[in-house]
Amino acid sequence: MDDAALKYLRTTFGYAEFRLQQGEIIHSLIDGDDAVVLMPTGGGKSLCYQIPSLVREGTGIIISPLIALMHDQVIALQQLGINAAYLNSTLDAESTRQTEADLINGKLDMLYIAPERLNTQSFFHLLQQTKISLFAIDEAHCVSQWGHDFRPDYIQLTVLHEHFPEVPRIALTATADKTTRKEIRKRLQLENAREFISSFDRPNICYRITESQSNARSALLRFIQNEHENDSGIVYCLSRKKVESTAQWLSEKGFTALPYHAGLPSQQRETHQQRFLNEDAVIIVATIAFGMGIDKPDVRFVAHLNLPKSMEAYYQETGRAGRDGQPATAWMAFGLQDVITLKQMMATSTAEEQYKLVERQKLETMLGFTEIISCRRQSLLNYFDEKLNQPCGNCDNCLSPVETWDATVAAQKALSCVHRTNQRFGVSYLVDVLTGKDSERIRQFGHDNLNVYGLGKEYDAKQWRTIFRQLISRNLLAVDVEGHGSLRLTENCRRVLRGEETLLLRKESKRAKTSRKGRKSYNTGNAVNSALWEALRACRKTLADENGVPPFVIFHDATLAEMMERQPENRQQLLNISGVGESKLEKYGEAFLQVIAEFKNNEHSEASDTVNETLQLFRSGQDIETIASKRNIKTSTVYSHLASCIEQGELNLDEVIDLKPQDISIIHETLLSVDDGSRKLKPAYDALDGMFDYNILRCVQAATLPA
Ligand code: ADP
Ligand code: ZN
Repeated sequence: MDDAALKYLRTTFGYAEFRLQQGEIIHSLIDGDDAVVLMPTGGGKSLCYQIPSLVREGTGIIISPLIALMHDQVIALQQLGINAAYLNSTLDAESTRQTEADLINGKLDMLYIAPERLNTQSFFHLLQQTKISLFAIDEAHCVSQWGHDFRPDYIQLTVLHEHFPEVPRIALTATADKTTRKEIRKRLQLENAREFISSFDRPNICYRITESQSNARSALLRFIQNEHENDSGIVYCLSRKKVESTAQWLSEKGFTALPYHAGLPSQQRETHQQRFLNEDAVIIVATIAFGMGIDKPDVRFVAHLNLPKSMEAYYQETGRAGRDGQPATAWMAFGLQDVITLKQMMATSTAEEQYKLVERQKLETMLGFTEIISCRRQSLLNYFDEKLNQPCGNCDNCLSPVETWDATVAAQKALSCVHRTNQRFGVSYLVDVLTGKDSERIRQFGHDNLNVYGLGKEYDAKQWRTIFRQLISRNLLAVDVEGHGSLRLTENCRRVLRGEETLLLRKESKRAKTSRKGRKSYNTGNAVNSALWEALRACRKTLADENGVPPFVIFHDATLAEMMERQPENRQQLLNISGVGESKLEKYGEAFLQVIAEFKNNEHSEASDTVNETLQLFRSGQDIETIASKRNIKTSTVYSHLASCIEQGELNLDEVIDLKPQDISIIHETLLSVDDGSRKLKPAYDALDGMFDYNILRCVQAATLPA
């Protein structure tokens, strides 16, 4: 392992070890080789070029299409004491000139630029006067003409290689598929580059999909209240209208929920995005337009109130949760109506046939994914050609296995109901017929005379809708092309109708009721330290505001969580915490150490207050039972208070317990003989065959083995 690289990782970034293939990638770049890197979001791609930029002589040039992010990235680097800058169209002439001068004068460790800049002669001229350590091409999938993010400027990036053949290049992306990967190599002339492909698993994300028929919003509210009350999150909706109404509704329930969609004035979009970045516990309610330029590491949940249109979209959108590697939830609620709407959109789309076919298949796969009863993560990774050998243990299906039931007969009834009514009706009508509803319309059509009329009374309307949804999802029924929502039979349903295939369906209603205990957010999860957690967050927020940066640029949640757990007392202990490097220690160390010290003091003085109260009562001559009932605490607590007074020398042992000297001496010997430094009383209690109770042992211990 190269010492220089590891040293930067530890002292500058404050991290103990490289993650995934970071070490290898960094080394091959330092050695001057090219690399193509595929890593999931949150995997830690930036370090792969940042550290070599620092180790190698010269400036690292990073090409990124996300202009909005450059500023944030540069600020984050400056916080680490790194000389980073960016050049893009948002800079004024003076700053541009300054940055260019710094570049030529070799003052920059890293320079971020937008791809179009490389097409200008003047910039090229600038580069030719510069010592360059490496080229990093971020979001490299933008060269792919087939992808959604195609950027014509990326095609031109081959000039880098032509003009600077000796400078190593690294292309990075989180877009997984093989075609894109091949295109990157070809178009960027990286045929000989080493390829580093990391697993696309995001183990910290818990995947959950729940059925909801009409009450998705209430389900969302329960989910947020129970599991993410003080967290940042993104809620995705399909339409602008739904975005607005959901944001408003969540606000009425007391959350800070802000809408975001392309129809809002850009000023407002910008404000909402900034608040999302800069404040704690802001929920953004958005159409899928939101997210591309967002690099917030502590998004704790992503919720879908509609079905994404493909597995790629699902992976990408849910992937915006938990970039910091801390537990996060990908939650989705969907129902029959979603399925019907999406199927209709597909059917009525005016796109080219070929395109439509692909889109339809993608949607089918997505629908299938919602209905599976096995591990979601296995299935998701499998879609991206990756194999996970074990069920993950961190998805809904793993955490509370789905019950299934043999729905063959029910399906046959539903299918024949479609058949008997001539494949001209939608779900509501079909359910009315099956449940034998007394309705004018049914009588008009004479369907009350059919043998399927009232044939399905064993289930209620809600259960039937669940059954129909799964039949549609599984392609046993198709939605009409005209858009009226009527259902018709498909080829696939024959085998079920003939009884040649058993149909196992999920038991939804039951499962919905078994409440799953999700992971709580930090603040609620650890009641003991929640005061410290809040104090640390408040300190971070103050520093963030003072420095004009988002809170996560000061420290990530994970770093605060570790502070909360280990409660460092000095600079060295603080430096040992992941995410604390030398520069941040210098800038913010004292502030956080002070918060922790204050917390400990309070805790201690609170503890000593209650001990004192017991001591006063005891000294005034009251017995232990009386003190306990007066103070409304347990007698064992009173004993432990008195024991700590004995320890402090404020009381003598014989003032508290009334025992013969030889008994005391036996206990004393026993405590010493079983002492392993843990101060556990059970070994002594057992060794003494339970002759003396724990209260007595505790007091003798206080006199024998002061802490
Ligand atoms: P990506 O660009 O791949 O989405 P980032 O480069 O933004 O991911 O890294 C994601 C998070 O992980 C960042 O907060 C980063 O500081 C952190 N990180 C990266 N490498 C390490 C490491 N070796 N140890 C601890 N944290 C790391
Ligand atoms: Zn699983």
